[in-house]
Amino acid sequence: MIDHLSSSQINLYLQCGLKYKYQYIDLIPKSFTVSALAFGGVFHSTLDWFHKRMIQGKSTTLENLYQIFDVDWYTLRMDANIRYKPDETEDQLITMGRELLSRYFQEKHKQIKGCEVPFTVPLYAPDNGHELGIALEGYFDLIETDGTIVEFKTSAVSLNMSDIDTRLQLTAYSYAYQILNRNPPKQIRVVNFVKAKKPKIISIETSRDRNDSVGFLYTAQEVLHGIQSKVFPPRLGFWCKECEYASLCPLWKHKVAATQKEPVYAEANVQ
Ligand code: SF4
Repeated sequence: MIDHLSSSQINLYLQCGLKYKYQYIDLIPKSFTVSALAFGGVFHSTLDWFHKRMIQGKSTTLENLYQIFDVDWYTLRMDANIRYKPDETEDQLITMGRELLSRYFQEKHKQIKGCEVPFTVPLYAPDNGHELGIALEGYFDLIETDGTIVEFKTSAVSLNMSDIDTRLQLTAYSYAYQILNRNPPKQIRVVNFVKAKKPKIISIETSRDRNDSVGFLYTAQEVLHGIQSKVFPPRLGFWCKECEYASLCPLWKHKVAATQKEPVYAEANVQ
C-alpha cells in the first residue's frame, strides 16, 4: 500500500486520517493550493537556489534572488489554482517574499555542507529493535559544516519555543541524522520567516535526545499500523476550513454546499 513514510505524512495521518487517505491512498488531486503552501514552496526553492550557489562558491545579488523568486512564483501560478486568504492579494505576497529575501540576504551565513539533502533511513520497532519494513524519507533543508540541521519555516505568526520543542518533523530529522552519521546533530535551528505586517526572521534553536527518538518511533509504528489496517478516521478541527477535500468529506461537505463560500483560513499557516 505504501513504500515509505515521511514526517509530513505522519503529521497528516495524526491530524486527519481521512484526509491522509484522500491524498496518499486514493491519490485524489487537490482542486486548489492554499496560498501559504504555495508561498512556502516557492520561498524554499529560492533559498535552495541561493544556498547551492553558496556551496559552489558563486556570487549572488539580491536582484538575482528576486528574479528566481518571481520566476518560480509565476511558474507555479500557471499550473496551480492558488486560493488566497480573504484579506490577501498576490501582489502583497510577492512584496512580502522580496522583503524576507532581502533580510535573509543581508544576514551573516555559516558554512554550508549541503542543502535540500535527501535521506532514506529504516524505521525500527522501539520495543524490540526489529525493522518495521518501511523507510523514513525526507529532505534536510540545510546542513551546516559543524553538523547543525537548519529548517526553514514560513508562517503568518511567529513560531514559539514549545511548538519547536515538540514538532514531530524535527524529531524525525534528528533521528535520521543520527542513523546516517552515527552521531546526533550538533543542534537543530529553525529559521522562521514571519509574514507579519512587519516581516521578520527569527532563529530558534532546539535539540532532541534518545528518548525523543524512541517516542518518534513509537508514533511512526502506530501510524503505520493504522495505515496498514486501513483505519482512516476523520478528525474535525480548524484545519477543515482550508481542507482541499472538504467537498468530498462526509463530515464537512454539507458546510461547503450550504455556504458556497471560499474557505476561511486559519491564523497561522505554516509551511
Ligand atoms: S474536512 Fe476535515 S475531517 Fe474532512 S477530510 Fe478534511 S480535514 Fe478531514
